[in-house]
Amino acid sequence: MPISRKDLADAGSPEALVKRILKAEPNLSVPVPIQELCVSLGIVKTEDFDTDEFEGGLVTDAKRSEGTIFAKRGGEPRRRFTIAHELGHFLMAHHVPDQPGRFLCKSSDLLRVQAKEGDQRQRREVEANRFAALVLMPPHLLRGAMTAFREPDLQHVLTLARDFAVGKETAARAYVQYHPERIAIIVAGNGRVQRCYRSLSFPTIICGVGSPVPTRSRYQSSSHRPNIAGDIAACSPDLWIDVKRDLRAPALYEQVYLQQNGFAMILLRLEPVPEESTEERKLEEGWRYRFHSGRR
Ligand SMILES: [Zn+2]
Repeated sequence: MPISRKDLADAGSPEALVKRILKAEPNLSVPVPIQELCVSLGIVKTEDFDTDEFEGGLVTDAKRSEGTIFAKRGGEPRRRFTIAHELGHFLMAHHVPDQPGRFLCKSSDLLRVQAKEGDQRQRREVEANRFAALVLMPPHLLRGAMTAFREPDLQHVLTLARDFAVGKETAARAYVQYHPERIAIIVAGNGRVQRCYRSLSFPTIICGVGSPVPTRSRYQSSSHRPNIAGDIAACSPDLWIDVKRDLRAPALYEQVYLQQNGFAMILLRLEPVPEESTEERKLEEGWRYRFHSGRR
């Protein structure tokens, strides 16, 4: 690989770094050869991490002359994300580890998408995750892959995960972000909402993290076959979003993908409320007036 640290110049943010990497490596293949990138950018070794406490680690100095990445053994997609995350710490000079010269990252760090205000540690984990997601699923390659997909479908998430060799959740997060429709993906486990990813235009999900998946959700039906994305079907919108009582409810669709480990992804797709004709609106307003005023 021709890329070297010089190509990154003074880029400090995940976005700027990935932009420089893509400029220096315009013909990057998919899945992105993350190990080769590491070698070209100053990582001298990638070793197995034999610990249950941490998912990944990086040993380096403040000047980042070189680095060694540690990644827990496990599935290839997960390991690739860990390596990319540690490479992110290595390339972002403003990331200062808790112990001098040694970054240690837990699995919860590798899932972090938001940081508490003022929490520098959380912020740096969020940045490393953003770098990992961007470098493993470069925006132009992701957009290219997404042009083949039209109607939202969890099957696409599985295809992206396979093609980019990333975890299903990493693929789901990118899918939600890049899909033009109003969609959200809920990660459920042990009957509860674990994480939510939604497009910018998708309303707030009323079932917060930790709360049980609604009993009327398709997730609760026993007919799912594991590892197959189910049918997409309409559900009651008030299961997941706040529906104003005096407004027409939008149509909401659900699709469930159940994994063997008891975890599931639930895709939510919101359809815009169809425009009412003036006559329909007058009729409805008339009813509402009579209803509220108690007249018949
Ligand atoms: Zn980290």
